[in-house]
Amino acid sequence: MNEKPTRRDVLKHAARGTALLGLGGLAWHLARGSDVEGAWQLDCQKCVNSRLGALGVDVCELCATTCVIGLSAVRAVNEYSKCGRCYICPAYFDVKSAIDAEGLPSQKLCPRDAIERKPIGEVDEDDPANNFYEYIIDEERCNGCGRCVMACKEPAGLTSIRLEVRHNLCLDCNRCSIAIVCPDEAYDRKPFGEQGVTG
Ligand code: SF4
Ligand code: SF4
Ligand code: SF4
Repeated sequence: MNEKPTRRDVLKHAARGTALLGLGGLAWHLARGSDVEGAWQLDCQKCVNSRLGALGVDVCELCATTCVIGLSAVRAVNEYSKCGRCYICPAYFDVKSAIDAEGLPSQKLCPRDAIERKPIGEVDEDDPANNFYEYIIDEERCNGCGRCVMACKEPAGLTSIRLEVRHNLCLDCNRCSIAIVCPDEAYDRKPFGEQGVTG
């Protein structure tokens, strides 16, 4: 027999659903940590790899090697509005490598081949040095090692590349293991909307 649910049955069902939703929300909140405190962010003004004036020092690769995620949650980002679209980008080419037949450095700087170079705009096929180039970072390959960031600094570069925590990858650890070791104290938990938060 197919009895119609009473109003009491409907209300009981609704109350149970609401309670389950509440528990689910609480579990998600506990798993992610407190959103009120924001997310881990990297201040590129402090990071040695992008800090102006930090020249002739070794690249710091701790963002790549200390994150609890295998490939790290940190990526290099090229801010195109600042990029000079150079013919010989010191972040793309290893400018210390031998010069090839085309007059370009023969080696790339990125150890993971994570930067693509392509001419943009009206392309002059006869004179490659007459073109502008876009340098695109492949987030599937980049591990935030910081080498390109260190190389794209004045006077050779224009500081258009920086490191950034990708919040779609970051586990929002209670204590970020990179923040613990960062020699420049460049990591801080800040609310979304403050400097450097994307993703
Ligand atoms: S650990 Fe600190 S100094 Fe080193 S690359 Fe990361 S943010 Fe920069
Ligand atoms: S941060 Fe390292 S892995 Fe990423 S693009 Fe730059 S050099 Fe390549
Ligand atoms: S909070 Fe965790 S996952 Fe995110 S950057 Fe730090 S160590 Fe990596």
